[in-house]
Amino acid sequence: MSISNLKEVKIMKEGIHPNYQQTQIKCACGNVIETGSTKKDIRIEICSNCHPFYTGKQKLVDTGGRVDKFRRRYGLDK
Ligand SMILES: [Zn+2]
Repeated sequence: MSISNLKEVKIMKEGIHPNYQQTQIKCACGNVIETGSTKKDIRIEICSNCHPFYTGKQKLVDTGGRVDKFRRRYGLDK
């Protein structure tokens, strides 16, 4: 077990984040991301599944930095 896993267990055990729950982020493309957040049922317009950077297609207008911002907010850039 890694150090980060141990830390996560410790936080859950102590209930430091009582509002932190499992939630779904639904993207406009239909992709659903399971994550933990204090918010419930988050809706976004773009995700790592449909962003041109990942798909290699220019089907969307440049959204510069929106995915990065999203990934940082929800801790998905690990
Ligand atoms: Zn998407």
